[in-house]
Amino acid sequence: MKVNAAVVTEEYGPWRTEVIEIDEPHAHEVKVKMAYSGLCFSDESLRHGNITLDPEVLEMISGRRTMFPVVGGHEGSGIVESVGPEVTTLAPGDHVAVSFIPSCGKCEYCVSGRSYICDWGATTVAGPMISDGTWRYHLGEENLNRMCQLGTFAEYMVVHEASLIRVEPWLDLRAAALISCGVSTGFGSAVNRGGVKPGDTVAVIGCGGVGSGAIQGAVMAGARAVIAIDTNQSKIDRALKIGATHGCATTLDAAFNILPELTWGKLCDVVIITVDNLTSELVEQARSITAKGGVVVITSAAAHHLTTIELNVFMLSMTNQEIRGTVFGSENPRIQVPRLLRLHHEGKFFIDELITREYSIDEVQKAADDLASGENLRGVIRF
Ligand SMILES: [Zn+2]
Ligand SMILES: [Zn+2]
Repeated sequence: MKVNAAVVTEEYGPWRTEVIEIDEPHAHEVKVKMAYSGLCFSDESLRHGNITLDPEVLEMISGRRTMFPVVGGHEGSGIVESVGPEVTTLAPGDHVAVSFIPSCGKCEYCVSGRSYICDWGATTVAGPMISDGTWRYHLGEENLNRMCQLGTFAEYMVVHEASLIRVEPWLDLRAAALISCGVSTGFGSAVNRGGVKPGDTVAVIGCGGVGSGAIQGAVMAGARAVIAIDTNQSKIDRALKIGATHGCATTLDAAFNILPELTWGKLCDVVIITVDNLTSELVEQARSITAKGGVVVITSAAAHHLTTIELNVFMLSMTNQEIRGTVFGSENPRIQVPRLLRLHHEGKFFIDELITREYSIDEVQKAADDLASGENLRGVIRF
């Protein structure tokens, strides 16, 4: 079928609406009519060439040395239109959220309760369908990559059933789109990976969509104080409305103006880094406001080529601190997405407050520009 999709054809190229061809679902695949797609900074990282693999690896998995052309988008929701043969978990009419890491349900990580690091995650950067290794998406004569085996910037998607999460039909599909990546990732960064406990002091560096999830996770886990750190004042204002107790522009501000009195010099039990673009200095800045025995969680997706960070290793070991990476907030997508959606449904979890505006599929580049300028906390593409 022919559908409109936002495609990037070269590094730093714009998101442009193209009419692409999507084949019918093969075995284990599902066709979804999209309702909403979120737009997160990882989409920009993809466009800027920061989410990629070495050219040799790309060639091995996809037959070409570049990521492009690619359909963007990795957070979204919709309704199942049809299913291919041997699909057992979904039926037409089911409401679904996407998962940017598929859960195969069979690998060591899935069966040990860690489907956020499912072995099929290795296939999500580029390449053909995980079901049978053939291509379903085409732009003219060329096969199309899809971000994270998804490509939510399209009116329809054909994806493996392992990339979808069924949600109850009365739950809000717009909220489902946002919860399907950034917000869940932030929430789990605090609750799961950060292990925030009642009474903890938590700092969240970067208060966009992911940071907003982290702030709410910290509050729900019982933090006594949550410090929102962001250079954009409007993001701090938003953070204070969804549960942050303090706000400031930099870690230095926090170190000198907030933490001495708040913690009597103890500093933060958990510091979560959720900035758009991780720079090497930021890791040491985060560590420097972390308490003895505290944890720094790196949630931000750094550029693929960033291999060095600034870190006072003496202080790290002498104060018994930890630095932890996380993907999807170290929680299983099939648990986290329905859980947070139900909390949202019951008015206990802020999502609508994070959405600055809606865009059409033809406005993806505008949405990306608004995200980059800080005008948008979260933009949503409505189909
Ligand atoms: Zn994302
Ligand atoms: Zn698996």
